[in-house]
Amino acid sequence: MDFQAVLDEIVATLEPELGAGTVASYIPALARVSPRQLGIALRTRAGEEFCAGDAATRFSIQSISKLFSLTLAMRHVGDDLWQRIGREPSGNPFNSLVQLESEQGKPRNPFINAGAIAVADRLVTHCANARADVLTLLSGLCGEAVGFDEEVAASEAATGFRNVALANFMKSFGKIDNDVAAVLDLYFHQCSAAMSCVQLARATGYLCRDGAHPLGGAEVVSERQARRLNALMLTCGTYDAAGEFAFRIGMPCKSGVGGGIVAVVPDTLSLCVWSPGLDETGNSLLGMKALELFVARTGLSVF
Ligand code: GLN
Repeated sequence: MDFQAVLDEIVATLEPELGAGTVASYIPALARVSPRQLGIALRTRAGEEFCAGDAATRFSIQSISKLFSLTLAMRHVGDDLWQRIGREPSGNPFNSLVQLESEQGKPRNPFINAGAIAVADRLVTHCANARADVLTLLSGLCGEAVGFDEEVAASEAATGFRNVALANFMKSFGKIDNDVAAVLDLYFHQCSAAMSCVQLARATGYLCRDGAHPLGGAEVVSERQARRLNALMLTCGTYDAAGEFAFRIGMPCKSGVGGGIVAVVPDTLSLCVWSPGLDETGNSLLGMKALELFVARTGLSVF
């Protein structure tokens, strides 16, 4: 298949719509990103890479980081992880508090904020330096140095009142073991990691390779864990739009409010789209359209 032509066509098709949606405005560093950007990159299981548009521009990966922190936690904690975190779609916005009270502080899944904060708590317990471990994982997976954007991390901390509330609420149920400040420091930093579409398409390569490292390093996760990560992405990776994503796109996806979405066709390829304008569920508006076009052009999805 001529993937380069497909990606070029997607970018050209969406060009008239550049600027659609609403850029995340809760912190200045995200609010000032121009919405008139669209990038797309793809990496096949065999390692061929294709990209189009603003695919080399680094952006704030935000909640896409939840995929990598979960990957690390699966490696370090194993199945005990699921005593603290559920595996059901929430049907609620990513930062919602409502289910946590009736469910005794156990988050529905690892991809809503509460779940990712619970994952961060596990990492603080199990890693000597969890922040460094996240960067080592990301850099190793894409073969290039990845760093945190300290301005973004500081703004997240200064304005993250809901995340502070979620962490304290879970702590009140005995579901967070470490100091809330240490757990949130990790969470805010992982959200601030800056990566491009090309880097993320490469970094998610293990999800289309049964857990094998995209660049030939040591196994990232087992085949079973890779399957489970893909299942969680499909059912929970785009918050309360997961049903709509499955319906319209049919690929395991993970989105972030920086406007990125990573997507996987198991055994075939991983891809990343980025456009900063979001819809009301916090998912990239043009990113979702780009994925829809990709599926329509290639017929590739899990269904
Ligand atoms: N930093 C954001 C938050 O914690 C990440 C949310 C997201 O990307 N959906 O609210």
